[in-house]
Amino acid sequence: MNGIRFDQFSRLCESIEGVSGRLDTIQMIAEAIPTLIDSELPVFIRFLMGKVFPDWSEQVLGIGPNLLYEGVAYVTGLKKGDVVTTIAGEGDVGRAVERLLAKKVQTSFFSEEPGIMEVYSDLTRIALSGGVNSQREKLRGIKKLFANATPLEGRYLARLLLEDMRIGVGEGNVREAIAQAFQIESSLVEHAHQALNDLGEVAVLARTGEESLKNVRIRLFHPVKMMLSQVGSIQGAIADHKTIIAEVKYDGSRFQFHREGKKARVYSRRLEDVTTALPDVVARLNEACSHDVILDGEVIAIKDGKPMPFQNVLRRFRRKHDVATMRDEVAMLPIVFDILYCDGETLIDLPVTARRQRLLEVVNGVAAPQLVSAATEEVEAFYQAALSEGHEGIMIKVPSSCYTPGVRGKNWLKVKPQVDTLDLLVIGADWGEGKRGRVFGSFLLACRNDAGAFSPVTRVATGFSDEELATLHDLLKDRVITASGREVTFEGDLVFEVGYAEVQISPNYAVGFALRFPRFIRVRDDKGKGDIDSIGTIRERYALQNRNAI
Ligand code: AMP
Repeated sequence: MNGIRFDQFSRLCESIEGVSGRLDTIQMIAEAIPTLIDSELPVFIRFLMGKVFPDWSEQVLGIGPNLLYEGVAYVTGLKKGDVVTTIAGEGDVGRAVERLLAKKVQTSFFSEEPGIMEVYSDLTRIALSGGVNSQREKLRGIKKLFANATPLEGRYLARLLLEDMRIGVGEGNVREAIAQAFQIESSLVEHAHQALNDLGEVAVLARTGEESLKNVRIRLFHPVKMMLSQVGSIQGAIADHKTIIAEVKYDGSRFQFHREGKKARVYSRRLEDVTTALPDVVARLNEACSHDVILDGEVIAIKDGKPMPFQNVLRRFRRKHDVATMRDEVAMLPIVFDILYCDGETLIDLPVTARRQRLLEVVNGVAAPQLVSAATEEVEAFYQAALSEGHEGIMIKVPSSCYTPGVRGKNWLKVKPQVDTLDLLVIGADWGEGKRGRVFGSFLLACRNDAGAFSPVTRVATGFSDEELATLHDLLKDRVITASGREVTFEGDLVFEVGYAEVQISPNYAVGFALRFPRFIRVRDDKGKGDIDSIGTIRERYALQNRNAI
């Protein structure tokens, strides 16, 4: 058999997990890359980052912890409850599974160790199983994988199934490793990655030389990561750049629209295909533009001509059924602020001003109004007007800057009133009381602790409207893992932004801190469990707060 076996891959992961230095990690990956053949290189790269499919792909594994626990229980002959207890005790699914598999009676009928490509095709089969029996089929696939796994393979298989490898390999390390492996400028690797949104494919191209990386073009229907912003100030931006561009910061949900001929798709900020949930947005954009394009913008919700709070947008984005009824309730309006591709041409390397010109040439009536100014007072007045119209603030854009997918740089600056907030993972809830008896009323939220695991740090029960609670119930009801009395726990994926009055020392939570007066602000639809705040941030906030008090 050709190629890298899954046990070799697991041993490499173990070595990477064992070193703490970034350079060592990069070196190990760089040494492995040239030994791989073209077909397995992308899979290898994605697996290292805890991804089974490319970021642009619509394919999802669709395995929650519950199904994984069942699979492990089956191959080890344990009860699911015992598996859950071991995992909770270990604090890490991978290591717990490794320990459990060490006790398993060998059930494998395979004489040969599986290669990563076989594991990948098993995972693809799991991802493809749909319909009424999908859970059963997925479980069958999981059982097969664990039945054939050694304990060490089990550690990384479990983490791969939950798409969280915990070996400290992110896009940055992989980009450096590709550059090192083929002796290519890392900025070229990064640029190709921004356009293709698939480091696996970038690695294959890098092998053939710099030219192929330079020639990379954005592809329609392969969504690229959204360009992100940093917090900034009007004065600072004008001091740095003289003339700046200001736009209203709309409080909705980010979208990317791809269109070629009659085919059009809309992707959410997390690059999920949300086309079927947003037929009115597609219709509006098709009406506004007849070119082949990729547009970037924000969808806002409108009722009786007025913008609605962001939660209404989220509701529509996540909607799979009853789209028509929802559509009558809330209208969705796309506002376009950028163009990345037009009629075969990739535009991301053009400055904002040139992209704006192209945008105005090809769309009609949907482009966000802009103020171009070098006068602080004028931009300040624009900001105040935006706030009094109920917007979140403004976005400042540096006129000469390119579009850098996935980068949170200084070329887009958000200006909005300051509040102290944290992004925390929803891991549990209590059912509400009285008229809120059919929805969750308070939520248990976790940060990442020093070991990288999720650890509770606050409950939040205020700041929700009835409508928001209904939406949250909709979003969370299928994610319940355990229920006892009024309490449930969730398979964590939803992230809340919460405001608070102060961080305080508390014996109530293992992390040793709690939040005073926590208040729900919004769901962070752009963040997943990998992006939440850590206990380190909370400690820093505590220190800062006490320093200010002295
Ligand atoms: P962040 O995502 O934290 O970088 O904050 C910027 C977000 O504001 C973007 O992701 C968009 O969803 C949203 N937004 C609203 N209006 C604009 C605008 N005019 N330009 C860019 N982003 C905007």
